[in-house]
Amino acid sequence: MKTDVIVIGAGIGGLSAAIRLAAHGYRVTLLEKLDRPGGKMGEVRAEGFRWDTGPSVITMRHVYEGLFADAGRDLRDYLDLVPLQPITRYFWRDGATIDAVADEEAMCENIRRAFGPRDVDGYRRFMRYTRRLYEVVSGPFLYRQKPTLRDLASLPVGDVLRIDALRTMHQAIRAHFRDPHLVQLFDRFATYNGSSPYRAPATLNVIAYVEMAQGAWYPRGGIFRLARAWERLASELGVELRYNSPAQEICIASGRACGVRLMSGETIRADAVVCNVDYTWARETLIPDRARRKDTPEPSCSGFVLLLGIRGAHDALAHHNIFFTPDYRREFDDIFVRRIAPRDPTLYVCITSKTDPDHAPPGCENWFVLINAPYLSEAYDWRAEAERYAQHIKGLLVANLGRIAPLSDAQGLVQVERRLTPLDLQATYGGHQGAIYGFSSNTRTAAFMRPGNRDGTIGRLYFASGSVHPGGGVPLVTLSGIAAAQCVEEDSQ
Ligand SMILES: Cc1cc2nc3c(=O)[nH]c(=O)nc-3n(C[C@H](O)[C@H](O)[C@H](O)COP(=O)(O)OP(=O)(O)OC[C@H]3O[C@@H](n4cnc5c(N)ncnc54)[C@H](O)[C@@H]3O)c2cc1C
Repeated sequence: MKTDVIVIGAGIGGLSAAIRLAAHGYRVTLLEKLDRPGGKMGEVRAEGFRWDTGPSVITMRHVYEGLFADAGRDLRDYLDLVPLQPITRYFWRDGATIDAVADEEAMCENIRRAFGPRDVDGYRRFMRYTRRLYEVVSGPFLYRQKPTLRDLASLPVGDVLRIDALRTMHQAIRAHFRDPHLVQLFDRFATYNGSSPYRAPATLNVIAYVEMAQGAWYPRGGIFRLARAWERLASELGVELRYNSPAQEICIASGRACGVRLMSGETIRADAVVCNVDYTWARETLIPDRARRKDTPEPSCSGFVLLLGIRGAHDALAHHNIFFTPDYRREFDDIFVRRIAPRDPTLYVCITSKTDPDHAPPGCENWFVLINAPYLSEAYDWRAEAERYAQHIKGLLVANLGRIAPLSDAQGLVQVERRLTPLDLQATYGGHQGAIYGFSSNTRTAAFMRPGNRDGTIGRLYFASGSVHPGGGVPLVTLSGIAAAQCVEEDSQ
């Protein structure tokens, strides 16, 4: 055994850090305020229905395989990851529809059938372009600790240009596609880290490559199975998992983190502390000087979630479905400029009972409906608006569904309803302003403004979460946990 490390938070970032550290011989105690692992990756059960409450699309399978292989395990012994085909079924109000598939030839055929031949070559060019982006950013950025300015300065000039940070995502997509439906489809990938395609740098088009070329997976049994798999591996490796154990303060002595005081009053000493709690929230609540960095980027968007128990089977829908708004620019202006819940939003509907029928009673479906929403501010009061907004969204769902398949009983469609507003997300997980992906990437420099995995001023304090390098979303958060653990290892030598 080498060093004692405390990890605060059993989200995917905290669990990944704990796994990597325990596999490398550290004695790890993991403190979690909830009574379960997974953080935002949770589940709810009610009246025979089961829903995941957070992530629903899992990409970059190789990242998880790497974490498990490093611990001497095979991911397949812990999780049955099913490739989703189609990945997503897209619907537009004008009647257009397409299945997005992770096979270039099949996707070209789907584009030809849905929108004619003129964008098929554009898609092939787009996939080559996004593959080059992936090759350039994955080396110096994704799979390593946060690059320094010196690292960036040492990149070949050709690679710097290929990062394509001077255009927006939307501008680069428009340069590849003429059909507005396809432009909107690829613009949507900006929301995978809570950003706007009209403001985020084109570098983020790499997200489309990760999904469309490498595929998307669903853990059989539900996304929450992934959190349980991480928990199982952590405990097999000897991590002491303590649920219902909220941390109150990170103890600091002589400028170094030296332990954690719990809400219960207990203090646990440690040689290093890894914080999985949202960076800004942690600085405001867990670190004694409450020093908040002033130069952090804008928060990512938040989300409004409806968990609906639906009567009837809807054969026109797939596991993942998108009903696009006709005015995407206005949706992002509502979210990031006016900071109000979008009036006519894009509706995302995930139905795991399509793959796991026992997630809903016979003849029913479990709909997870996600609307991108602004991070919390004075501009929108969810306490006053949530009920009205939920009714509005259900009305939009019925209208969209009625357009693709006749509904015999629209009134009786929703049998069970649960909801999560940005206020709930903030209160449950401790997310700054209800942001679900930490910080947005709405400027060219945002990726470099995001805090790193090692605290800049307090020694032996590390961060592993969607709010620090390399960013939000399950695969990047896993990489964040690995990077934080690597920092601990380097500093222990
Ligand atoms: C609705 C929604 C949909 C999403 N969809 C996707 C998707 O499809 N694909 C994708 O890849 N990502 C998605 N995400 C994002 C993804 O869920 C997150 O990026 C990721 O799960 C964040 O993990 P984390 O470890 O950084 O933090 P969290 O999951 O927030 O974990 C932090 C943990 O710290 C704990 N904690 C907080 N304060 C304390 C304290 N004082 N003491 C002890 N413990 C504490 C919390 O309880 C929590 O368990 C979605 C998120 C949401 C909310």
